[in-house]
Amino acid sequence: MADPNRRRPENIGGNLFVDDTCIDCDTCRWMAPDVFDRAGSMSRVHRQPRTAAERSAAFGALLACPTTSIGSIDRGDITAEVRSFPRPIHDDVFHCGFHAEATFGATSYFVQRSAGNVLIDVPRFAAPLVRRIEELGGLDWIFLTHSDDVGDHAQWAEAFGARRILHAGDIGPATADVEWQVEGDEPVVVDEDITLIPVPGHTRGSMALLYRRRDLFSGDHVAWSPSLEHVYAFRKHCFHSWSVQIASMQRLAAEHRFEWILPGHGRRCQLAPGTSRAALDTCVEWMRGMT
Ligand code: SF4
Repeated sequence: MADPNRRRPENIGGNLFVDDTCIDCDTCRWMAPDVFDRAGSMSRVHRQPRTAAERSAAFGALLACPTTSIGSIDRGDITAEVRSFPRPIHDDVFHCGFHAEATFGATSYFVQRSAGNVLIDVPRFAAPLVRRIEELGGLDWIFLTHSDDVGDHAQWAEAFGARRILHAGDIGPATADVEWQVEGDEPVVVDEDITLIPVPGHTRGSMALLYRRRDLFSGDHVAWSPSLEHVYAFRKHCFHSWSVQIASMQRLAAEHRFEWILPGHGRRCQLAPGTSRAALDTCVEWMRGMT
């Protein structure tokens, strides 16, 4: 629980607050921008929620915060907010919430499909979320985009008997028993609606998952930047090779089409139909200027 005695002075007065344990993961700011923003190197409450929709967004962020750094003097009944996760993004794609500190607050996603449900990256192993995913049909696959965002993967896999997928280039001691370790840099068609796309660069074994040629679950390879107003990659947090990541981005632009970019870190976006190539070409040009 957030500690009222550690309430940041930058918060506006009122019920909701952020304390000084915030790790600046950005989750609350994209989930509830009407309530949270950044002040210094942490988040704060810049305005208390006024409407039911703002309250739902803000308490959703409170539940999603990986470090329980968001508090409320009176939280009332938040049962509905707890049960709202996984929250629909569109169609059969959901945001899991319950971000984990072990992944620095990475976003994880749930895809509900008749051929087997998929978890993309790993949220906290939180009992309410586990129950909701059971109710939604459980998990068949856990797709791990890269080594940074694996978190509680073993607990999730054991609870649902799910098979995990991670590129061999990112296997380490904590993931040595992952069931499917993808080799090489060629795309792998899993089912007619799922293709795994190796995108080395951020890490050696980074992969994206393309669902229905519509949703690109991109891990930390590519995300939307509100300040740049185009898609971009994380120059400061490129752990393998920036030039390799540029080459992966070029190949992604040339070979695949999609509408949504759903990242682990950074902001998601919906591109206008038919514009993913142009969006990634812009990203590549920007990346070349960042070498
Ligand atoms: S979600 Fe929590 S840790 Fe992340 S920026 Fe907001 S208050 Fe900080």
